[in-house]
Amino acid sequence: MDYKDLADLIFPDAKPIAYYEEKYPERNLPEGAIVTRFAPSPTGFVHIGGLYQSLIAKTMAERTGGVFFLRVEDTDQKREVENGVTDIVNSLKDFDMPPDEGMISDSEEIGNYGPYKQSLRKDIYQAYAKFLIEQGKAYPCFCTPEEVDHIRKKQESAKIRPGYYGVWAKCRNLTVEEAIEKIKNGEKYIVRFKSPGREDRKIKHKDVIKGNVDFPENDQDIVIIKADGLPTYHFAHAVDDHLMRTTLVIRSDEWLSSVPLHLQLFASLGFRPPKYAHISPIMKNDNGNKRKLSKRKDPEAAVSYYREQGIPADAVKEYLLNIANSSFENWRRANPDKDIKEFDFQMNKMSVSGALFDMVKLLDISKNVISKYDANKVYTESLKWAESYDNELKDILSNKEYSIKVLNIERGKAKPRRDISKWSDVKYCIEYMYDDK
Ligand code: GLU
Repeated sequence: MDYKDLADLIFPDAKPIAYYEEKYPERNLPEGAIVTRFAPSPTGFVHIGGLYQSLIAKTMAERTGGVFFLRVEDTDQKREVENGVTDIVNSLKDFDMPPDEGMISDSEEIGNYGPYKQSLRKDIYQAYAKFLIEQGKAYPCFCTPEEVDHIRKKQESAKIRPGYYGVWAKCRNLTVEEAIEKIKNGEKYIVRFKSPGREDRKIKHKDVIKGNVDFPENDQDIVIIKADGLPTYHFAHAVDDHLMRTTLVIRSDEWLSSVPLHLQLFASLGFRPPKYAHISPIMKNDNGNKRKLSKRKDPEAAVSYYREQGIPADAVKEYLLNIANSSFENWRRANPDKDIKEFDFQMNKMSVSGALFDMVKLLDISKNVISKYDANKVYTESLKWAESYDNELKDILSNKEYSIKVLNIERGKAKPRRDISKWSDVKYCIEYMYDDK
């Protein structure tokens, strides 16, 4: 009996990977075109950092004639919330950044490289896991969660590196016969990657944002297929970004330390790895301490906050570009009327330590952005906002002609009025004119 028998026993129905390689061919794009994506989990909260990432991804794809796609990473079904996908899709829509491919509603998608929802790609992951097992590069692991926990505790008390690796990787050395017998006996298992790495060797990686970084090689036999048959993030990342022909992975820098594992997975699967750009989190100055914008403490961490506050999407995007590249501010001064798409955005000039979020600055930018809107647009946008958030303003705006007249005062000039930074401010400008009437 050999690895092939074991692979056939575990995944009897999986297709050969050649089927998928053919189904999702290399993309026919111009030289230098960047294929990139936003790959959030539908956990019910779209963080401003996700929007920041998407803006950069969309900008890079657009600038190079590439593709920006939206993939939903829903393999951790315990964390999933109702409307999670809809929230993500709507956030991109609200900010006028629809993906070229991928999910466009909870259940619809566009593009030829789907499904773009990971829970619908089970067969694909299993085909690639089978391919690894056939070559002895992955194996079934029968350790129970309690056993894995026990290993970790032993490592902790002996003060050694935790994890399932080397001598600790109990199931790595089972023979094919032993593994087959256990499966036939009905023992439960998951599938692990058999890491070819050694902790005492280093790998070098050049990140588009972080520059050159050195890491020890990965030697952990990580789980690739879980007990529910779905993949872990790491394995899904390798399979999906290969098959979706991603050329540049733009993601949060919490994943930087996983690069050695990811490069190893790509190599073991025989895939060409993408480039990586790891974005530092957006930071906040909290009484002199710099810390990450937090989902729990900071309302401005949620993308929905800006809509609720009535800060236009254009202003938020302009502000995000401002913190992404410090040269943006001078560019804007020299080109007050140009579209932000014309700014020569440079990913390698992004902050390595994390851009600082400043609400005062955002509102100032917003004032500028709104000052360039004509009265009609200010009217329509503020009414749209008021309809959901401010009945009083909605009533005030019911006199359309008069409102537009008031909003038109000092607008459309070389130095237009700069008194509105968010739609709630419209109330005070108009109210005051009503009082005078
Ligand atoms: N689902 C992962 C996350 O939300 C995706 C990271 C990636 O872009 O690869 O962190």
